[in-house]
Amino acid sequence: MVEKGLSRFINIKRETKGLINIDPLQTGGRLTDAARSALLDWGDGYSVCDFCRGQLDAIKKPPIYHFVYDALPKFLGADVTRITGGAREGKFIVMNSIAEPGDWIIVDKNSHYTTYVAAERAKLKVKEVPNSGFPNFEINVEDYRNVIEETKKKDRTSKISLIVLTWPDGNYGNFADAKKVAAIAKEYEIPFMLNAAYAIGRLPIDMKDIGCDFIVGSGHKSMAACGPIGIIGINNEWENDVLKKSKYFKSKEIEMLGCTARGAPVITLLASFPHVYERVKKWNKQVEKARKAAAQLQELGINHIGEKPHRHDLMFFESKKLYEISKRHKDGAFFLYKALKKRNIWGIKPGLTKQFKLSTFALNEDELQKVITAFREIIQLAEQAF
Ligand SMILES: *Cc1c(COP(=O)(O)O)cnc(C)c1O
Repeated sequence: MVEKGLSRFINIKRETKGLINIDPLQTGGRLTDAARSALLDWGDGYSVCDFCRGQLDAIKKPPIYHFVYDALPKFLGADVTRITGGAREGKFIVMNSIAEPGDWIIVDKNSHYTTYVAAERAKLKVKEVPNSGFPNFEINVEDYRNVIEETKKKDRTSKISLIVLTWPDGNYGNFADAKKVAAIAKEYEIPFMLNAAYAIGRLPIDMKDIGCDFIVGSGHKSMAACGPIGIIGINNEWENDVLKKSKYFKSKEIEMLGCTARGAPVITLLASFPHVYERVKKWNKQVEKARKAAAQLQELGINHIGEKPHRHDLMFFESKKLYEISKRHKDGAFFLYKALKKRNIWGIKPGLTKQFKLSTFALNEDELQKVITAFREIIQLAEQAF
């Protein structure tokens, strides 16, 4: 009987509302007030399709056309842009349209899982460029050259169709030298895609300056949109391959399955854009804030792992101290999660103490000090108790 369980769907509350959230996933996708109000207005299913005459991104009011054909290309330094279902969909679109099944793609070892899954869906084989391992986990971009050479040597029949760099990666927040990767890609005449899910909407980006052929971003990750939604920037050269139109429906692009975001996700992306446009200009303040937090945590015995000096708000930490406490604490491995929750701080995954990620992006000065103070108190209390 379905009816019996229906009551659990009534009045579903969001438990984490109002908490200080330091989960890197959650900090750049928070809606602006404008987007929150637009979300209510445009929340009904296909809301934007009231204004569609056959091509979603040709809608002038609301200004989707202006966004896709003017504002976003300028914002990214891209020839052509489109709205996608998310960063992962963008990656799949590129892989599926420019590579043939059985081809190789070369990715950095710090790639997000969605890079691999997109490649699998497009039936491609994946080779990894290693990272330097503990404690910095950096990608030496010259290794792209080595991996290209090795792959060519070992497999003389299949082609290398794409190079991918995650910029920054979602584990350590490291920025490898994207311009150098672009130069290597050009040398070997292999197209280059930058996965900028943690960058676009946080920091200024210029595709032309970097020299990549494709760039993907995530609306719900870094552009203050409700999502799921993403964006893609495409170099002129690849426009016809990636944006091929259906032979049955002349206005529908095949890789977009005709249309992508068709309701609240795109409206929230637009409504937040003026804010996002301005916030990327203040990126250096975000980096300063992150470094300051890392220095304060370091004093408590919580050590930053990854590229130094660090250049992103997403940071990976390791703490033997917290781990030792967890072994003696009555709440065991859950002690940190529980103690933070008690202090209205959310985002360190339950059960983690030794290694975890956090982001300072959404925190104001007051909240940042609350977080640091919470860690200090939690450690002091535990040390007094034992
Ligand atoms: C979050 C993330 C993604 C996935 O983004 P979606 O828009 O949800 O598909 C891809 N790559 C990286 C590096 C990420 O951090």
